[in-house]
Amino acid sequence: MGDLTGKTALVTGASRGIGRATAERLAADGALVAVHYGSDAAAAGEVVARIEKAGGQAFTVGATLGVAGDIDTLFTGLEAGLDEHGAGGAGLGILVNNAGVMGGVAPEDTTPALFDELVAVNAKAPFFIIQRALRIMPDGGRVINISSGLTRFANPNEIAYAMTKGAVEMLALHYAKYLGPRGITVNSVAPGVTRNGNPVFDVPEAVEQMAALSAFHRIGEPGDIADVVAFLASDEARWITGAFLDATGGTLAG
Ligand code: NAP
Repeated sequence: MGDLTGKTALVTGASRGIGRATAERLAADGALVAVHYGSDAAAAGEVVARIEKAGGQAFTVGATLGVAGDIDTLFTGLEAGLDEHGAGGAGLGILVNNAGVMGGVAPEDTTPALFDELVAVNAKAPFFIIQRALRIMPDGGRVINISSGLTRFANPNEIAYAMTKGAVEMLALHYAKYLGPRGITVNSVAPGVTRNGNPVFDVPEAVEQMAALSAFHRIGEPGDIADVVAFLASDEARWITGAFLDATGGTLAG
């Protein structure tokens, strides 16, 4: 599946977790991948090294999202990297809006500052990244936004976070209609609990509790989500747009 040879991709938040697995998978499928990071340049560099060792092509792009000038910084780095790899003319074929921050605090402890950060990184940045990306995205392009099962599954410690993911899902609905004439698809992928570098995944009792949420009785691995994203990025998914893909391992089945 998914011959992405000759395509270019940007994966935001690809220095670890789901973003890293997605960057590695898209590169394995043949795409030249821009591995975006916020603060951890070394981790992003390691992702690029792993991709290159596996025979793929990638480069890093650093940009803190949710701050003034973030979109310009991101696209200046992206376009320089594409040019350096002789792919400037190809534009950006695949955009994965993955970077995100969680809340993890009770409703009464959610401060305006935290709320603003969640909105800025999780909702505002993806909107303006898409707006800017469309200038260089060819017809037949792909936009995939990472949402969360928490738009369908209650967790009172993540109300503000879930609000931002609800906002992100609107991008698929409305942009799908707008970009259909160009053959560009826009979809949402909603992971459930997925192992990332968080120390909670080193606590067996916690992992057991989280695993019980899934119909498969295990927690998700980053690769479980990366495979779904890779499908949406492929030509096989050309007839899917405006969709919400439940990638929670059956958590939403109740
Ligand atoms: P993660 O391991 O926490 O990694 C987050 C990534 O986003 C990192 O690469 C980080 O870059 C980047 N990032 C965070 N804030 C940023 C900012 N302000 N500016 C630029 N980059 C920033 O994430 P994850 O758990 O894999 O989650 C990835 C996506 O899936 C997120 O949208 C998350 O909401 C969603 N999701 C995750 C789960 C889960 O259980 N893991 C479940 C549902 C949905 P640096 O480290 O370089 O700063």
